[in-house]
Amino acid sequence: MSALPETSREWHLVARPHGWPKAEDFALREVPVSEPGEGRVLVRNLYFSVDPYMRGRMNDVKSYTPPFQLDRPMEGGAVGEVIASNAEGFSVGDHVLHGLGWREYADVPAKHATKVDGSVAPLSAYLGVLGMPGLTAYAGLFDVASFKEGDAVFVSGAAGAVGSQVGQLARIKGASRVIGSAGSDEKVKLLVEEYGFDAAFNYKNGPVAQQLKEAAPDGIDVYFDNVGGEHLEAALSSFNVHGRATICGMIAQYNNTEAAPGPRNLALVIGKRLRLQGMLVNDHNDLAPQFVKDVAGWIASGELKYNETVVEGIENGYDAFVGLLRGENTGKMIVSLTR
Ligand code: NDP
Repeated sequence: MSALPETSREWHLVARPHGWPKAEDFALREVPVSEPGEGRVLVRNLYFSVDPYMRGRMNDVKSYTPPFQLDRPMEGGAVGEVIASNAEGFSVGDHVLHGLGWREYADVPAKHATKVDGSVAPLSAYLGVLGMPGLTAYAGLFDVASFKEGDAVFVSGAAGAVGSQVGQLARIKGASRVIGSAGSDEKVKLLVEEYGFDAAFNYKNGPVAQQLKEAAPDGIDVYFDNVGGEHLEAALSSFNVHGRATICGMIAQYNNTEAAPGPRNLALVIGKRLRLQGMLVNDHNDLAPQFVKDVAGWIASGELKYNETVVEGIENGYDAFVGLLRGENTGKMIVSLTR
């Protein structure tokens, strides 16, 4: 076995952000690296993911995932190369997906590592289009929203990892119209020209309700909500009867310091007989094999396109995370440690 590195750098949460995260809430610290214990592998992380849900884990509140601990490394999806193995079935050189991101070297229990094949797709794709955000899009559209051919679909956060996939899956599966919203004119252009959306608008250019009405003159049947707030209210107004919303995320309020107001038009749920259903991707792992098969096929055929915004270097992990919350990403936001 070749010599292991002596130290690893990792991002710790050192204070709980109030409102928008600040650089002082985080610290990049150096820690010693040791040989993996029984049943564990030591992984050199090549890519780690920054995701919106991590903002929730920075708060000290009970939720579906436990809060990050102060002065401990943060966690999240990562792909890397095994550099030492003390676990049956894992060899040096294997590439694995696991949950100990935000650090250069990860001491991972083998039972929480999944081998991935870099010849099937670029390794970073297992954090995005073929990974958790991709499954969120797939399960959220086909299962939670009960999408069917001919539905008109509206998705917010449409140029992001989940949203860009939702819109394209809807198109591939025969939506009558796909509408997306995003936060810049460049992103809107990408949605229509590269991803094949029928219509798209920049939510910063005017009231969402009005822009959605213009983009979907015959109404919408499915709304995939990544944003909440004004977008959800607009979708309720544009829904046709028996519309279905997948409530996937509400990024517009993750940094709020006050409770967000509810949609003022919620009573529309009654007359239109709407169904609004929340989702958590982890409830849908049974769909993973079919999801990987379908999505890999659509990528190979060129029907499904994806983008990644790759930030280089562990020292830029905090900037990547805050950049994601600010909309600096197109497609999946990833931190690369390959250099
Ligand atoms: P994205 O790649 O979509 O990145 C986040 C995007 O949110 C930014 O690029 C930005 O794009 C947009 N955004 C930020 N602030 C606002 C705002 N105030 N109003 C509108 N848009 C905003 O992230 P993901 O694809 O990883 O996640 C998308 C959503 O899905 C998130 O809400 C996330 O929490 C949720 N999610 C939920 C899961 C579940 O199991 N329920 C699993 C995975 C994700 P722009 O430039 O367009 O503003």
